[in-house]
Amino acid sequence: MNNLSSSVDDLRKKYREIFEKSVEEIQTRVDEIKPENFTGDIFDCYDKTSKGRQWQENAIDMLEKDISKEIYRKFREILAYRKNFKCVGCATCCNLACSEFSPEELQEKAKNGDNFASQFLSIFVPYNSKEEARKVYPEYIAMLDETKEDKVYFYHCPKLTEDNRCSDYENRPQICRDFPDNPLSILPESCGYKKWKDEVEPVTLMLHSMIEIVEYYIDKIKLNIK
Ligand code: SF4
Ligand code: SF4
Repeated sequence: MNNLSSSVDDLRKKYREIFEKSVEEIQTRVDEIKPENFTGDIFDCYDKTSKGRQWQENAIDMLEKDISKEIYRKFREILAYRKNFKCVGCATCCNLACSEFSPEELQEKAKNGDNFASQFLSIFVPYNSKEEARKVYPEYIAMLDETKEDKVYFYHCPKLTEDNRCSDYENRPQICRDFPDNPLSILPESCGYKKWKDEVEPVTLMLHSMIEIVEYYIDKIKLNIK
């Protein structure tokens, strides 16, 4: 297993551990607003006028408003903190952009109003082969080989000059200006944002797990109060 594969593997393990802690945390918050001396479960079915139903409605309110707001506020803080780091111009992200979508699928998405797909297509063109992409970031492609991940398409930007500069810097689209906007993206060691990613990764994992759990709770409670 190469270094990148083992760090992706570690990330999955960390996520599972963090997920379990987040389940406990959300359950504690839900229990804190439980009516006194009430013994029912938040996922049970209750009468419309019962204490249990009131608890479920309060829980949905708390999950949708308070907890979701806290999560998104923390995401915004993580992105704001990124300003303390800088692009060092290694050009890896211009030379190799990966997508689970083919050029045709991206065109379809762009036609249907997907802004990210439109921006992506405005700059990136597909590599002719995986081997060309391998030359840019061999460790990453080796990791895909190991995980047998085959639905990945490789792209590069022709606006990049031979000395790794953007030939249209002033007009580069927002997706170039925002990169990397997700600390869970795989970044090469050469990237100036790698330290940011490493620092904020644990809290990002926690926030992702909380979003998953909050959605699960809301859906499951709503199913029982129909
Ligand atoms: S437009 Fe410029 S910054 Fe954006 S991917 Fe192309 S070369 Fe890189
Ligand atoms: S990979 Fe990181 S350091 Fe390299 S060009 Fe992209 S943003 Fe800049």
